[in-house]
Amino acid sequence: MADDWKQKYLANLDRQERAEATWQATETLLRQGLTRVALAAQGVDERLDRELDALRQAIRGGADVGRLERVIEGVADAVVRLDEQRSQQTAGNPQDLLVHWLDSLSLPRELRSRAKTLRHRFAEADDIGQMEQLLHELAELVNSALQPEAGGGGLMKRLFGSQGGIKAGDREPGHEGAGPQAATVGEGPQVGEFCIQLLDTLSLPAELTEQVESLKERLASGLSEHAIAPALHAIADLISTMRRQMEAENHELQDFLRQLTGRLQDLDQHLAGAQTHHRAGVDSSRELDAAVQAQVRHIESSVDRAEDPQQLKAEIQQRLETILRHLDEHRESDEARQHQLEEQLERLNQRVREMEKEGESLRQRLREKHEQAVRDPLTGLYNRLAYDERIVQEFARAKRYKQPLSLAVLDIDRFKRINDSYGHKAGDKALKIIADRVRNNLRETDFLARYGGEEFAIIMPETCLSDGLVAVEKLRKDVSQSQFHYQGTGVAITVSVGLAEVREGDSPETLFQHADRALYRAKDSGRDRTCAEEN
Ligand code: GH3
Ligand code: MG
Ligand code: MG
Repeated sequence: MADDWKQKYLANLDRQERAEATWQATETLLRQGLTRVALAAQGVDERLDRELDALRQAIRGGADVGRLERVIEGVADAVVRLDEQRSQQTAGNPQDLLVHWLDSLSLPRELRSRAKTLRHRFAEADDIGQMEQLLHELAELVNSALQPEAGGGGLMKRLFGSQGGIKAGDREPGHEGAGPQAATVGEGPQVGEFCIQLLDTLSLPAELTEQVESLKERLASGLSEHAIAPALHAIADLISTMRRQMEAENHELQDFLRQLTGRLQDLDQHLAGAQTHHRAGVDSSRELDAAVQAQVRHIESSVDRAEDPQQLKAEIQQRLETILRHLDEHRESDEARQHQLEEQLERLNQRVREMEKEGESLRQRLREKHEQAVRDPLTGLYNRLAYDERIVQEFARAKRYKQPLSLAVLDIDRFKRINDSYGHKAGDKALKIIADRVRNNLRETDFLARYGGEEFAIIMPETCLSDGLVAVEKLRKDVSQSQFHYQGTGVAITVSVGLAEVREGDSPETLFQHADRALYRAKDSGRDRTCAEEN
């Protein structure tokens, strides 16, 4: 009899140990799950990354559920911000071009105030959706100008009556026209050229390259005046397609982030649930312990009081039976709990495996999306968005470590001439070749971006002005020695470069302005050269 319950008691301890081990495994699994979910979202956004790092550290450091909850809230917060940030992203900055074009129109008097309002709205437009709407309106304005009562016909002459050429990169009023290719007044192809420039500044995504290219081809062959409005509508439609795509992408990302947040909460709940489970097990063992001890105390006092051995025997027997009953009950509930926990563990295991698979493919997709967002489809270089991000980082780093930082802005010389003489396709090919050439001349630590149509920016960390000058000159000479072959003839291309180094009181913006000013000095003093900022 005594042996019997002793054995039961030992078996119980054993079971408890196993339950403990199961609990440990559950917890490890849950924490692993959290880590994997966190990893799946890494690389989407810097702030989110920081929060996820904190989460992983909390998990590794064995933080309690309460702290994990707080860290998970931080992650959710970063996710929300990320959404907001994405919805603010717009592409390109074609306002200047359009305002400039509107300025160059000489419209019938009755349309002037409409044009003025439109000009104002273009200048103020700060998202691509507005741009789309305004382009449609501009097309309607052109249509109105073509109506017979507005004087009809001869629109081309009036459109460019006063100024002639449109130059996309015309940032300085005094900057000279583009040489022999300077626009002739009043011909159809000019409007086509304007539309092509507009398309170039819009930086439409890679998925639309084909449509953009075929539109450009149509534009390049010249436009009759009645084709202007349809062309503007077509560009607006392309913007609309891009916006739809951006929205779809946003939705996809949002879905993923929602899933991620849901999963984190799921795991958190399981973690809390499993802990309650564990606590219930501990409580019930404690109860058993108390019950057994109570019976043992009874036995002890019975022994103390014992007068009749028969009665003592009966009493002890009864107590032992009670203990046995407690042990049985405990075993049963313990086994049920253990069973439940094991099932839950199996389910969780399954989930973590699924999540791991899904997480990997999501991570891959996000990586691709991010890559797409910061790359220029034509040259494969980083785009302006990437430049804007990087210059802020490098600027801050240079400041923190008191290291020099130089910025070069490079612009292809008389690139319009290449387009005009050989066509836009050839221009694109030349751009690619030059981009490769420049890239191959740079150090691993330099950052090269296609900043605009035929402009590039090079961020050179830990480089002072004189070192930057050496690097940039080497690169410039190399580009000018390259010949770009077009239909059997070699065409030389040169570039001009402006260089600036971060100085006291600079911001990323003023640094760019200094480099840009130096670039214009290089252009003005004959091109195919580098100028550094003046002190
Ligand atoms: P400058 O020496 O003063 O820089 O003369 P430029 O002709 O290079 O300067 P401008 O800014 O007048 O013209 C830039 C031209 O580059 C006009 C624009 O159509 C062309 N361009 C911009 N982006 C692209 C592009 O993606 N492909 C092609 N083919 N041409 C482009
Ligand atoms: Mg330019
Ligand atoms: Mg140029």
